Amino acid sequence: MLGPDQCLFALEDRWTYAFDAGGDRAVPLAVVFAHTPDDVCNVMQYAAARRIPVVPRGAGSGLTGGAVPAMGGIVLVLERMNRILEIDTDNLCATVETGVITGTLQKAVEKKGLFYPPDPASAGFSTIGGNIAENAGGMRAAKYGVTKQYVLGLEVVLPDGRRVTLGSKCIKDVVGYSMTELFVGSEGTLGVITQAIVRLVPLPETIKTLAVSFPDIQAAGQVVPMLLKTGVTPCTLEFIDRFCLQAVRKTGLSDPVASLISPDTGAMLLIELDGDEDAVAKEAATVRQICGQCGATGIHSARNPAEREQLWEVRRSIHGALAGLCPHWLEEDIAVPPASIPDMLEKLAALALEQNLRILSFGHFADGNIHLSVSEAAGPLSPQRAGEVTHQIFSLTKVLGGRIAAEHGIGLAKKEYLSVNLDDDTLDLALQLKKMLDPSGILNPGKIFPTHDHQPGNPDAANGVYPPGII
Ligand SMILES: Cc1cc2nc3c(=O)[nH]c(=O)nc-3n(C[C@H](O)[C@H](O)[C@H](O)COP(=O)(O)OP(=O)(O)OC[C@H]3O[C@@H](n4cnc5c(N)ncnc54)[C@H](O)[C@@H]3O)c2cc1C
Repeated sequence: MLGPDQCLFALEDRWTYAFDAGGDRAVPLAVVFAHTPDDVCNVMQYAAARRIPVVPRGAGSGLTGGAVPAMGGIVLVLERMNRILEIDTDNLCATVETGVITGTLQKAVEKKGLFYPPDPASAGFSTIGGNIAENAGGMRAAKYGVTKQYVLGLEVVLPDGRRVTLGSKCIKDVVGYSMTELFVGSEGTLGVITQAIVRLVPLPETIKTLAVSFPDIQAAGQVVPMLLKTGVTPCTLEFIDRFCLQAVRKTGLSDPVASLISPDTGAMLLIELDGDEDAVAKEAATVRQICGQCGATGIHSARNPAEREQLWEVRRSIHGALAGLCPHWLEEDIAVPPASIPDMLEKLAALALEQNLRILSFGHFADGNIHLSVSEAAGPLSPQRAGEVTHQIFSLTKVLGGRIAAEHGIGLAKKEYLSVNLDDDTLDLALQLKKMLDPSGILNPGKIFPTHDHQPGNPDAANGVYPPGII
């Protein structure tokens, strides 16, 4: 039913679709590339009739194994469905096929004076479909929200091959249940999203970037609650701790950035303000004042776009710099209420001391999202220790009213920990929804739900009737 250029069967080709950006691996039986929504319907009907697992895939940049074919089957790649169908400058929205790269959409709408704010650090290579399926966050979430705030409507192919259209271009739309949101953050387990209508906003007139140094992370943490009380919401408020800064410093940076990261810099905040010139100037003055009150040791304002890029280079270099320190880190993506950040960081510092661990942190301060990289003092954690440490970190998170997954989803990586945040009845409701939409359990089996729940509605898959992937 598909052209020869739309299918891969050779083992070496299938291997290249066995993983995403996380640590899990599983080889699919086949890889197929959809060119149209009809292709997606046909593949789903074919698979449903034969009870073959299907795993939707965008760019494969997910960090929790969402696009890994854990139970074998077909990987259904959406990356060739990458057309921007319409940029509606009158109604401030765009209609896109979901294989479009997020950064491509951002650039296209900017040319028309518009702005698509969701900004995961992977925007340059992840797809809108993957962003919707993961409800991706990013740098600007505190001011502009996450992906779900920008999804007005969706076209979705259900596990049995039927196609449904949800939502519309209307800002107000209460025709029937609000089902669009059900598919946002569903991690490819409820339907394959083929088209989306996304909301746009006017492009801000100006943007100001400040890099602020602090003696320690606790001092930097005080900035968030104080700043939010003044009514100033930066579009970006990224933090980087001492250890990440030291790692980045070792990679060798050009001036003026290198001078910002002196050996005694305990933490850095990267703050961006956007809006019209006057408002941004006033907000920048407030930010400077509050950072001063919190003990900032230096404030550097980018003087031009090139300097802004150099400051962002510090943030973007973290991943690579950490790889130079240790080949394998336990990585977590937790969220706490923003005002609890100093408390959480203190608890993590105490845990590191008590257990002789390295816990490095960076992330999105204003929305309470902390990215953690953890290892033993001398090298990677053993799998057993990684499990124990994960439990401890999640317990500390829960005590503060936080969540074990902020923006990277559950996938394979966190499914056994779901009950930290979800009680039995809530988990049950989610399982019932899954069973109702996907009674044969063919769509992305093995994800989100803990293993003991035997993947809803798919006894065959749970019993390993399908050739399992190699994990
Ligand atoms: C360097 C780096 C930085 C990152 N930074 C961020 C960040 O700042 N914020 C953030 O939120 N995430 C971040 N991520 C994680 C990742 O990029 C996001 O989760 C992204 O949304 C995944 O998009 P993708 O197209 O790569 O999806 P994939 O990885 O291909 O798939 C992700 C999930 O979505 C499902 N899926 C994909 N397309 C569809 C579709 N059309 N219909 C239904 N289901 C689908 C898949 O089955 C899978 O479960 C980062 C990743 C990397 C590697």
